[in-house]
Amino acid sequence: MATAGFSCVHCSKWFRSKIGLGVHMQSQHREEYEASIKVPKSKTRWSVEEIALMAMSEANFLREGRSLEVNSYLLSQFSNQRSHKGQRRQVKYVTG
Ligand SMILES: [Zn+2]
Repeated sequence: MATAGFSCVHCSKWFRSKIGLGVHMQSQHREEYEASIKVPKSKTRWSVEEIALMAMSEANFLREGRSLEVNSYLLSQFSNQRSHKGQRRQVKYVTG
């Protein structure tokens, strides 16, 4: 029967549980541990494509006379609502 467990990649200590290993990592190898669990920071800036896409979507809606739906549509299209309002001011789009 194989021994289930988790070994520390830094000092080869062996732990029965992942939690135990996690605690060890946090206390003994904090820097490495934090680096290993680091997830990419959520985007703080919109990509050029997103901005262009948003402007296009908005222009299409305005052309169709559905400006009231623009905001809710954009919010559904771009789940990242954080900088939506600030971003819109910077986007140049044709309103017709
Ligand atoms: Zn270790």
